[in-house]
Amino acid sequence: MSVVVRFAPSPTGLLHVGNARTALLNWLFAKKLGGRFLLRIDDTDAARSTKAFEDAIYRDLAWLGLTHDGTDRQINRLAKYSAAFYQLQASGRIYPCFETEGELERQRSLQAARKLPPIYNRASLEPANKAKWEGEGRKPHWRFKLSRSKVSWTDLVRGPVEIDTATMSDPVLVREDGAFLYTLPSVADDIDMAISHVVRGEDHVTNTAAQIEIFQALGATMPKFAHFPLLVGAGGEALSKRLGSLSLEQLREEGMEPLAVAAYLAKIGTSDPVEPRQTLGELAEEFDFAKIGRAPAHFVPEELAALNARTLHAMPYSAVAASVPQGEAFWEAIKSNLTKRGDIAELARLVSGPVTPVIEDAGLAAAAAGLLPAEPWDQETWGAWTKAVAAQTGAKGRSLFHPLRLALTGLEHGPELKKLLPLIGRDKSVARLKGQTA
Ligand code: GLU
Repeated sequence: MSVVVRFAPSPTGLLHVGNARTALLNWLFAKKLGGRFLLRIDDTDAARSTKAFEDAIYRDLAWLGLTHDGTDRQINRLAKYSAAFYQLQASGRIYPCFETEGELERQRSLQAARKLPPIYNRASLEPANKAKWEGEGRKPHWRFKLSRSKVSWTDLVRGPVEIDTATMSDPVLVREDGAFLYTLPSVADDIDMAISHVVRGEDHVTNTAAQIEIFQALGATMPKFAHFPLLVGAGGEALSKRLGSLSLEQLREEGMEPLAVAAYLAKIGTSDPVEPRQTLGELAEEFDFAKIGRAPAHFVPEELAALNARTLHAMPYSAVAASVPQGEAFWEAIKSNLTKRGDIAELARLVSGPVTPVIEDAGLAAAAAGLLPAEPWDQETWGAWTKAVAAQTGAKGRSLFHPLRLALTGLEHGPELKKLLPLIGRDKSVARLKGQTA
């Protein structure tokens, strides 16, 4: 069977880390099995969908590296949904409903008062009600008549799942203004696009039971389903409260590496350790539904920041060459001091200047300046030079190295001087040891 998956965001907001994880898990699974990853824009909600959010979806997925093998908008596909609707109607599974939102609300509170589940009571199926409401000239919305029996499937994450559709309301497929809601278009597209696996968050488990009945009623082949646990915050709180601060756009603006974001989202909530990876391909190789646990995955921004730093530390120069014109030796000297790519500019200043030196021990600095060997310098230069300075001045340990670091960089801490010194070069080193900004 060829693997075809889809990521189906609604363009009603920015992609947040939860959506991004859905996209990523679909993508990794497809890549692992040599399948196709489709991007479907679920924009049937015309009032809430915007072009700007749609553009942002493309931008954010591209940033994360999730290339797609095909894309479409639901708004282009309405004829297919109508065809599916009429097919269901012909088989007797669609019925018109006339209740207003207020009436439905009242029905739900009556049920709550009687401790009954808030399920639609099918009052519109009563001929007398139907005749009355039609007579009032009410415009119907349309529901799918569930079988009120047990629906089961083997979920690739949750294992065997059984849901009794008698515990659910018949889903509304078409609103009274004629607009399709999510349920039917999604199934019609999954059939038409030959989706082999529907991979999404566990908030869709109940939808799946209803959608399986729709697949069956349309006589279609059923995809396989995988529902993974949702993301929660560090303390187990729902992430949705803080979604604004966890959009991919925000992470990009904060300077997070897309690869770190991907590795983090791929590994949290799984049995794999959260570790840096150098390519999305590695993450795809390691992907397995069996590794996804049943407990929610904890998204902790501080953990992501730490993984971001470790991801940079592990990056070969070839992966960053475009943003590090200073060259490979510079990258090797500074990479383990980075927490973000944006720190590079500040570290580059230590080499190219201007650095305002801090002279802690003037005698030592002057002696050290006098002992600097002639160039060319390499990584052995620092060891030989500091040995000579120690021999001449008697300074050792911290009283030797601390004043030299302060003079050469103006900072208490920083990259390894053995790697930095040859990059700074003799002229600037002499000047800084003499207390001159260089
Ligand atoms: N547009 C739906 C959502 O964002 C898609 C769900 C699905 O994957 O079927 O929740």
